[in-house]
Amino acid sequence: MTRAVVVGSGPNGLAAAVALAQRGHQVTVLEAHDQIGGGTRTAELTVPGLQHDVCSAIHPFGIASPYLSSLPLAAHGLVWRWPEVDLAHPLDDGTAAVMVRSIDDTAAGLGSDGDRWRQMFGPLVDAFDELATDVLGPLLRVPSHPLLMAKFGLRAGLPATVLVRRFATEHARALFAGSAAHAFRPLNRPATAGVGVMLVAAGHRYGWPVAEGGSQAITAALASLLRSLGGTIETGVAVRSFADLPPSDAVLFDTTPAALADIAGDRLPQRRARAYRRFRHGPGAYKVDLAVRGGIPWTAEACRRAGTVHVGGDTADIASAEAAVSRGTMPPRPFVLVGQQHVADSTRSVGDVHPVWAYAHVPHGHRGDVTEALLDQLERFAPGTRERVVGCHVMTPADLAAYNANDVGGDITGGENSLPQLLARPVLARDPYATGIPGIFLCSASTPPGAGVHGMCGWHAASRAAAYLEGLSLQSP
Ligand SMILES: Cc1cc2nc3c(=O)[nH]c(=O)nc-3n(C[C@H](O)[C@H](O)[C@H](O)COP(=O)(O)OP(=O)(O)OC[C@H]3O[C@@H](n4cnc5c(N)ncnc54)[C@H](O)[C@@H]3O)c2cc1C
Repeated sequence: MTRAVVVGSGPNGLAAAVALAQRGHQVTVLEAHDQIGGGTRTAELTVPGLQHDVCSAIHPFGIASPYLSSLPLAAHGLVWRWPEVDLAHPLDDGTAAVMVRSIDDTAAGLGSDGDRWRQMFGPLVDAFDELATDVLGPLLRVPSHPLLMAKFGLRAGLPATVLVRRFATEHARALFAGSAAHAFRPLNRPATAGVGVMLVAAGHRYGWPVAEGGSQAITAALASLLRSLGGTIETGVAVRSFADLPPSDAVLFDTTPAALADIAGDRLPQRRARAYRRFRHGPGAYKVDLAVRGGIPWTAEACRRAGTVHVGGDTADIASAEAAVSRGTMPPRPFVLVGQQHVADSTRSVGDVHPVWAYAHVPHGHRGDVTEALLDQLERFAPGTRERVVGCHVMTPADLAAYNANDVGGDITGGENSLPQLLARPVLARDPYATGIPGIFLCSASTPPGAGVHGMCGWHAASRAAAYLEGLSLQSP
């Protein structure tokens, strides 16, 4: 039997391990941390019993993933839960723009922009499953659905600030701009609409669900499935060189490209090592988990029922904050993503104390204290929030990087989402998962399709590794 090792147990590492085990290979996962899951873990960070998602919280791409959705994860304990409102975006006038799963209901709430919202996203929502097979993989390849990809490209290729001009109202504009801001890029750059288009389309097709009990449930289900297929997982094993690896026929690295270059040393072709070290990381996240008695007292009532709230004000405010962060300047009013998983999953709370997940976009490696600026943004749309906070846990960009070596400088996207790095991730190559060393592959979010809990980087890398391993088996007598 051929043996494969996966270094790192993030969702991509585990997805790669499961994909190889499904094809009959003997798989061992090595994880540096004492808990598996990488960016998909849950912990009691504030008061006892309160379940906080340390990193990922909201999973439109988890449920929409062509690979994860093919797996029997429900049989291994994964239960998705949906909030009544998928996304709310409060504005300074006390109202909020709202996205729910139904595109018609969302359009109805957007007044004069309702038809335009439907025209913009409807065709992509209708064909979302086909679209996902092309978009959630390397972009530089012949698409399976060229016409659909052309429709997607016409929207996704735009700067987000250009796409929002199709809408007349600030509600529709801000609702889209907040979704596009997930890319951590200045919104006036080409292709910054892409992430927003996919998030909105996935939202109308599948919603923006959370995992019951916490994101760790996604990790636990993948690990349980892996073990049922004969795979094994070892924790507390940090791989620093090839000498740390057990004997194997293939190794997949759920690490950054630069980390792989360090681990591989002079085994990696020099040109490739230089390219891996040049791969750029993006701005950082500054994470604040709160225990809030009675929940956040949002002025706009719809925000109280929303799983996700985008806090940043209007499109101009968000664009200016994202541009500053990208320049390396901390904006006074940062863009903040808020997760209220408890509105979909009551198991997260203790009585009337609820876990609130939030992070602000900050410059790469930012060292300053952003907690007050983040709370000020919450107070802007929910006066009285501070009085309700009974527990607080902060992770700076440096803390995030210490928690997970992949989050360099607090970058939670596996590498900057610039157009060149979206197209050539991590290098311009026919096979972006191959490394130049036979049998060694990259499978992390630094490969296509990039960040998010979808396991697609892992699945694509595992497909390449499986072809390599099956070629070896054919050669052996
Ligand atoms: C604060 C935050 C919020 C987020 N919110 C969301 C969200 O709501 N929805 C969403 O879809 N995504 C979200 N993400 C992004 C998501 O978590 C990542 O895109 C995803 O986890 C990437 O998966 P991965 O497998 O590529 O790597 P990771 O999840 O980063 O896992 C890499 C693993 O490899 C291990 N490792 C690294 N180097 C070594 C080594 N040398 N030896 C052994 N082990 C090693 C690490 O310890 C880690 O466990 C968020 C991330 C963060 C940090």
